[in-house]
Amino acid sequence: MRASEFFPIPNIEEGSKFLAIQPHPDDIEIFAGGFIASMRDKGKEVIYVTVTDGRLGTFDPNITPGELATIRKKEAKKAASVLGVKKHIFLDYTDGDYLPHEELRQDFIELIRKEKPDGILLPDPWLPYEAHLGHIQIGLAGAEAVIFSIMPHFKPEGRPHQINFVAFYCTNTPNTFIDITSYFEKKLEAISQHKSQFPPPVFQVFSTYLDVKSKELGEKKGVEKAEAFKVISLYHLHVNVDTVNC
Ligand code: ZN
Repeated sequence: MRASEFFPIPNIEEGSKFLAIQPHPDDIEIFAGGFIASMRDKGKEVIYVTVTDGRLGTFDPNITPGELATIRKKEAKKAASVLGVKKHIFLDYTDGDYLPHEELRQDFIELIRKEKPDGILLPDPWLPYEAHLGHIQIGLAGAEAVIFSIMPHFKPEGRPHQINFVAFYCTNTPNTFIDITSYFEKKLEAISQHKSQFPPPVFQVFSTYLDVKSKELGEKKGVEKAEAFKVISLYHLHVNVDTVNC
């Protein structure tokens, strides 16, 4: 028996309630839209949490950041509803600002203790070459919130809650591949709602890339198309030297 086998990797498809956290409107659809659609199709509960307002996401100097934030919130609501998501929480942090770690972590702890999900989806903060600090900060604050949510003496208002798994998306060390063959078109339909980010020529190129990428990931599981996650439990998130290889 290997030491890493003491800490089994949870099966995320067995979860019944998920907290799906994204730094910007569109991250979840791009990396986990097929998984979200499949879970909703099976009657599972998914709560979306969009952390920043995405006001910097343009190369067009004629649109103001405030206008873009308003547009992106509408697009995010449409995209989530395409996937069947009914509850969408916007934390409205300013995109591009250095995010306050303790405040963000506390927001996540409160959400975890209030909603009591089985699992949480986060961007992988340890993705090499990730240069957008917001993705790193949000992934780390979310992971730390998972540890602290279970501690009764940490901010004792709110009852402790233990999450069964963290599924990191946008990861280069996946250990879980989810068959999204039947949901790939729905994923693309959700992404296409983000018209400010994917005008038709961009969408055409990007959807072709996603088609190729999902097939590449599908080969790992023996299915046509897949999404990839690094899934771990609470016990992998602190003082565990095997997590990187699990
Ligand atoms: Zn993002």
